[in-house]
This record gives sequence, structure tokens and C-alpha cells, in this order.
Amino acid sequence: MNIKRLGIAAVVFILLTSALYAAFKKPSDYMEGAARRISGECPRYTINVSFYPEEKRIEGTQSLIVKNTEKAELSELYFHLYPNAFKTSDTAPFPRSEMQLAYPNGFSPGYIDIKKVATPSGPLEYEVRGTLLKVVPDKPLKLGQSLKLTMEFTEIIPPSYGRFGYGKNTYNIANWYPILAVYDEHGWNKDPYYAIGDPFYSEVGLYEVKIKAPAEYTIAATGYLENKRQEGSSLIWTFKTGLVRDFAWVASTRFKEASSEVGRVKITSYYLKEDAVFGQKALEYAARAVKFFSEYFGPYPYREYSVAASDFYIGGMEYPNLVMIGRQFYSEGDMLEYVVVHETAHQWWYGLVGNNEVKEPWLDEALTEFSTVLYYEKVYGRKSGQRVYDDFILNPYKFYEQTHQSQKMGPILRPLSEFSSWGEYDAIVYSRGAIMLKQLESIIGEDKFREATRFYFKQNIYKNATTEDFIKAVNKATGADWTDYIYNKMLKNDEPLQKAA
Ligand SMILES: [Zn+2]
Repeated sequence: MNIKRLGIAAVVFILLTSALYAAFKKPSDYMEGAARRISGECPRYTINVSFYPEEKRIEGTQSLIVKNTEKAELSELYFHLYPNAFKTSDTAPFPRSEMQLAYPNGFSPGYIDIKKVATPSGPLEYEVRGTLLKVVPDKPLKLGQSLKLTMEFTEIIPPSYGRFGYGKNTYNIANWYPILAVYDEHGWNKDPYYAIGDPFYSEVGLYEVKIKAPAEYTIAATGYLENKRQEGSSLIWTFKTGLVRDFAWVASTRFKEASSEVGRVKITSYYLKEDAVFGQKALEYAARAVKFFSEYFGPYPYREYSVAASDFYIGGMEYPNLVMIGRQFYSEGDMLEYVVVHETAHQWWYGLVGNNEVKEPWLDEALTEFSTVLYYEKVYGRKSGQRVYDDFILNPYKFYEQTHQSQKMGPILRPLSEFSSWGEYDAIVYSRGAIMLKQLESIIGEDKFREATRFYFKQNIYKNATTEDFIKAVNKATGADWTDYIYNKMLKNDEPLQKAA
């Protein structure tokens, strides 16, 4: 996410000339090797829920096998309960000035209520505090030990046009189940649901998710549809996934769908019936982007990728194998392609290579913006790439600097908690971040930069990468040490860019 730059000057595109792509590659050996290694260690979620749209309610269970792969004993486990951010209008994860957009029909609470946490041998102690669930195993979990947990829950979907909520056309069900927090060298990451950025950080896992929904609903989801069967007036949808770091779904009675194939990947566009022309365009953009990024960075290893029109006022939002695209973009103009390509680039930066989006949001967002411009350069030619770069990145950033001349810009590399508005976050993380990457590319050369991104991808696939990993990849590709330059000239630099770009 989150494309906030609406209404930016029109960009006229040259017609696509195809034949740019070499044959589409299947997942490489290194990916399959990494997948095999990680599959044996990662959390396995089995979620079984019923969806009651009339009552705005979801109810069910989640079983999860957690294996301790850390060097420490785990005497507590933590889960994020993101729906609880929607409980009060004070904690709702939207800027105060956007509450009307987020809740066009007024605020009403959404939340998740944990009714029980148990292991096969009996109930466990747990504590819910805001968006955090603490579970205390009977005995600390030692390295290599696994624990099977079952949780029962009910949740209420709020009338929000955000990641978790419903509008006139869609139910957006994302960041909706108890997801295991990340335990890293700093211990458990218990960050709250910030109103700015995409405040998420998770490990990859394997999911099997069953959703029982009224038969008139179509569900777009992470993973692939294993089967769908009728039960009375309901349909039971079963989805399975590869290694993904989250599971999201969007449900609607108004979806039409169109699909195509890119190599072995099935691409689907879910759109509202009155948007057929743009629904088809969204499919083309998504397919073209998957093809291009697969070729340029490394193959997309999943079976499916879906783009779903959503009642989502913020713009677009990425989840593994599924992105939400604000329905407002299904119209003439350039935003639809830009947003679809941006969210698709996130399948590589955020999805396949994850990062702590709370602590180092620049890492996925700047690389994603950079990749979006790259798509235009390679698909439509240099001139188009330049125009998109100027209109979507450079000029908005310059405008931001001009209107904030009395302030320090603040560095690109800083956590979400240090940004005070979406405007600031957008200018610094997305735009200035991408400008810096463009500069780096022009210094080390396009080929070396590409090599660095490919190496970064290969080394960190299915893991969480850090800024250091990115620098390592640049150093590796160039055979030189860029650490000081990248930290001090790029990431920690808080002076205005002036004529630099
Ligand atoms: Zn983004």
C-alpha cells in the first residue's frame, strides 16, 4: 500500500509494444530449496470460519502449530489481534482527518473476541490487551519443540472502507485472525496498529482456510481454491497456500471475474459488473506486471494472483497472492495501472521478501515505487518511464519540499512512529526513497543495480530482510562497499534534496 497520490497530473502512455519478455521462467531450484527448508519450520494455520454478512460477523476456530526455532525458550507466545484497533473511534487505524472517508456511514465498532485458547491437553491461560493476545503454554517451549494451539473466536466487521471492514460492494477481510507475532533478536514484536503506513511484520506460514459463506457471495483470497462445495444455502470455500506471510480475502455478491495465465500462474481480476472494461484492464496490467517482475527479479512461485476491486478509500493494499484495489480507480486515467503495478510489485517486496514494515518501511515501499517506474520504462520505453517518475515521484516530492521549507526533511530510514502524517510518510518513504534508489542505480549502473535486486531476492526469499541485507546485495553486485554511502548519503540524510535529483 498505499497509493495516496490521487489526482496527479495525467500521464499519457505510448502503446504497449510487447515482445519484451523472454520466456517466462518456472520457479528456480533455489526457491524450491528455500521452500522445502522453511516449510518444515514455519507456523501452520488451519482456519475454519463461518461468515454471516447480515450480522457483520465471522465466527470459527483457528488451529496453529508453532515450532520454536529461536535460540531462547519461549514462555509466552504473542499474537496480533488487529481487528481490535477498530473497537473505538479513538483507536481506529486511520488519520483523524480521514475518519469521514474511512467511515462514510458513521463509526461503529469492529473487534475480535477470543473465547478460548487450548492445546490438545486442555485450555491455556491467555490475556487480551488491545491488539495483542498473550498465550502462556503450560511449559516453556524449548528450541525445536512444537505446540498445537486452538483458538475459538467471534468477530464483528466494522463499516470501514479500510483493510478490515465493509462498504456498499465488498467485505474486506484482512489482518483479521490471530496472527503470530515475530520473535527476532529484539524478542517479541508487539507493535500496535499504527494509523500511518502498513504496520505489519510477520513470518511466512502455510495456511488452509475454510470459509462458509452464503452461496451468493464470491470470495477472492490468498492462496488457491482447493474446492468449493454447496451445503444448504451456503458454499464452503477451501483455500490452501504456499509459503505466505498473511491470509486475506474479499467477499462480494457483485463480483464478476476474468482470468488469464502467465506461465503457470493464474491471474484473476475481480471487478464490479458495471466496471467490466476496467476490470479487464486491471487483469491486463496485473498479468503484464507479474510477467515483467518475474523476468526481472525472479519468478513468482505461486499458482495464483488476484486483483480485487474493493471499497477501499486509501488506494491499494497488498496481501500475498491478493491485492485490494480501491474501486474509485476503475475509471479513465492512469491511476488504475499505476496502483495495480505498485501492488503487484509488492508481491516481490513485502510478499516474497518480507521486512519489518513498522521499523523499516522504506525497504519495501521505496523498492516497490522504484519497481513500478521500472515497469513503465521497460514496457513503454524510457520516455514513459521518465514521465511517470516525474509525475508520480519527483515532482510530488519537490512540491513537498517547497511547502515544508522551514523543516528538516527527516531521514528515509525511520520507524512508522516517527512520521506525523500520511503526507510526510508518502513524500519521504515512497518518493524520496525511490529517488534515492534511482540515484544509486544511475551511479552503479542499471545492470549492477538489477543484479543487486536479484541477489537480494534470492538471498531473502520467504524471509524477513533488513536494510543491511539490501546493502549487502549492492556490495555483492558491485564488488565495492556502499555501506557508508547508502546509510549516510541516502537513508540517514535529512537535508533537503535541492538540486540533487
Ligand atoms: Zn506500497
